[in-house]
Amino acid sequence: MEKICVAVRVRPPTPESSSSENGSSLWKVEDNRISLHKSLDTPISTASYAFDHVFDERSTNACVYELLTKDIIHAAVEGFNGTAFAYGQTSSGKTFTMTGSETDPGIIRRSVRDVFDRIQMISDREFLIRVSYMEIYNEEINDLLAVENQRLQIHEHLERGVFVAGLKEEIVSDAEQILKLLDSGEVNRHFGETNMNVHSSRSHTIFRMVIESRGKENSSTDAIRVSVLNLVDLAGSERIAKTGAGGVRLTEGKYINKSLMILGNVINKLSESSKLRAHIPYRDSKLTRILQPALGGNAKTCIICTIAPEEHHIEESKGTLQFASRAKRITNCAQINEILTDAALLKRQKLEIEELRMKLQGSHAEVLEQEILKLSNQMLKYELECERLKTQLEEERGKQKEQEQCIKEQQLKIENLNNLVTNSDFKKNQSEDFISLRRTQVGRCNVNDSSGFPGTPCFESAEPSFVVARSKYSGLSDFNTWTKLNKGFVPDLDQLQFTPAIKRQPTPLIAATTECSRENQKVVEDLKSQIELLTSEKDSLQVKFSEQVVLNNKLLGEISELKEGTLHMKEIPKLLSESVANCKDVYKDVIVTMKTLMAEKESPTAKLFFGVTGITTSLLSTLESQFSMILDGTRSGAMEEKLKSELSIVKERYNELEKELSLDKLLLKASRESHERLEKEVQFLKEERDSLDVAVSQSTQRLRVIASDKENALKDLNVELCLSSRQKSLMSFHNEIKSKMQKLTTQNPKLK
Ligand code: ADP
Ligand code: MG
Repeated sequence: MEKICVAVRVRPPTPESSSSENGSSLWKVEDNRISLHKSLDTPISTASYAFDHVFDERSTNACVYELLTKDIIHAAVEGFNGTAFAYGQTSSGKTFTMTGSETDPGIIRRSVRDVFDRIQMISDREFLIRVSYMEIYNEEINDLLAVENQRLQIHEHLERGVFVAGLKEEIVSDAEQILKLLDSGEVNRHFGETNMNVHSSRSHTIFRMVIESRGKENSSTDAIRVSVLNLVDLAGSERIAKTGAGGVRLTEGKYINKSLMILGNVINKLSESSKLRAHIPYRDSKLTRILQPALGGNAKTCIICTIAPEEHHIEESKGTLQFASRAKRITNCAQINEILTDAALLKRQKLEIEELRMKLQGSHAEVLEQEILKLSNQMLKYELECERLKTQLEEERGKQKEQEQCIKEQQLKIENLNNLVTNSDFKKNQSEDFISLRRTQVGRCNVNDSSGFPGTPCFESAEPSFVVARSKYSGLSDFNTWTKLNKGFVPDLDQLQFTPAIKRQPTPLIAATTECSRENQKVVEDLKSQIELLTSEKDSLQVKFSEQVVLNNKLLGEISELKEGTLHMKEIPKLLSESVANCKDVYKDVIVTMKTLMAEKESPTAKLFFGVTGITTSLLSTLESQFSMILDGTRSGAMEEKLKSELSIVKERYNELEKELSLDKLLLKASRESHERLEKEVQFLKEERDSLDVAVSQSTQRLRVIASDKENALKDLNVELCLSSRQKSLMSFHNEIKSKMQKLTTQNPKLK
């Protein structure tokens, strides 16, 4: 157990502040103590803090690296996990400390170079180094080495622990290659402009190196060491109010403050005595989840807290120092992370026996030595038997774990499918397999990759044999073997951060007697009974599992039914929209007919009717547009809930409208009836008119006949009149003649 190493660094005052604040700093640094002084140089007793190191304004990055981080870096090469992170308000010098400048490179660059220098010095081991670079921006993890890898998810695996799925890991062969990768990653960082610092970083960045190594000689029998080195540059810890931020900056600020607050909470909890310590909220933020092993876990950790010396930053500086004081109380338990192979285990045991034999030589009789030899052989046999049984046990455990995992995955799938039913948004790749990722990563280094993958540089200068061998170790089958041979120890670096290293007990050869063999026998018996127990447990689990499978199948069936239902549901808006459009058309036709039939357009009934039709038409149009909007998919998936509520409102309105429509239909029916009545009347009248027409035409004809008769009669009358006048004239003529004749006879009686 060792305490986290905590240091404070005061940055030099800015040129503006040194002129306005008369140049003298309020923070005084003496050895490893920093204290706040009043302007008249009297110290404030409550504001004095001691740390492992305190660096004043004149300190360089080289000095910080030498005193604070060098040991951690060297330990990382030896196989210990290591983490260094910078904490402090914006513009206090975090990035300067981690990244540095051209003339004074920061911790990251110095570490990279130092790792390779160190490797050069270790001649009996070969190394494989992988690097990744990520940022946490607004609680989202982005890959800085592959811009397309955005919003990466943290996954937790039973054996692998916490890991960032899909994060690109580059295999590197020299420091320059890493520095180039860092430069390209730096370009992808999120910078913002606040009042505090023009280029203040708004994201936490984590640069990660995974260092794997093994002995060059007897490489197949040597253990492999895997360590992880995290170098973290945190975003500014200042309060939002002070940055004067708004909009996007405010949102960023909130996320930064939240994750730093959770980091503070984690540190608070960890600094409490282990008795008081309850739940550590690592899971509350992505930063603390990723840094979990570095905080109270299996890692050597150092924190550099940076403060700004200006008077107006006093409150922030005090906050930083309080954070640092709490962090100082955290203890970690770092151990070398070794992956022991079967051969490596045997080799170690042989060495131990050899050592003991050397000690025995000369001081004991030959007989005793032979006896010991015999016993050691026997013991080796028993140990092998033990190993075999343990392997068997581990296998059983592995199967059990697999089954549990399988059940979990099934449950996860059901949950996902449920989500799918509600959200129509299935998030794939829930459980990406890290083993395959590693295989891909290492494999990519092995061959000249022509698949068009984001290029992993070819591991040229490292010995190819190791790279090939590592790719073999990363294979699934070997992974299992390693697991077995390491007594539950998983050959994975993420897992190794949490798993205590194996401690091999020295073989008690001196006390080796028949009792030892009996003990071994007992162990074997115990193991056998454990295996039996586990087998029965496994059987019951298998039964449960098959029940679960049946249940799952049932659930899947239900889900598919639900899906179908959903698909039908999705059709509803379309059908509704069509029926609304039809209704609208029919309604328009009806209205047009009604209007033509409406005799008195100004009557109150007509006005009411027009009013109602207007409202109905507008409602129908609204309904139609709503449906078309739904169909067009103008509303995003995220607004689905809102849409649903709107749909229910629309449905209600639709129901109301339907009611109104049915009322209208009744009205329409009544008006149709009256229309039919009227039509009948019209028909009747028409018939009457027709009959009258017929009668009229008949009368006209009769009149015509009469008229012609009259004319004829008149003609006859005229003729008669003519005749009578002629008769009269004849008569008068006759009378005249008669009178003339009488006269003449009288005058001449002789004529008689
Ligand atoms: P942070 O990352 O905390 O927001 P920076 O590292 O960007 O702050 O520092 C802000 C400014 O102060 C930069 O211009 C940087 O060069 C300068 N600075 C910080 N620390 C030092 C230092 N120890 N020596 C010289 N300049 C420094
Ligand atoms: Mg910064």
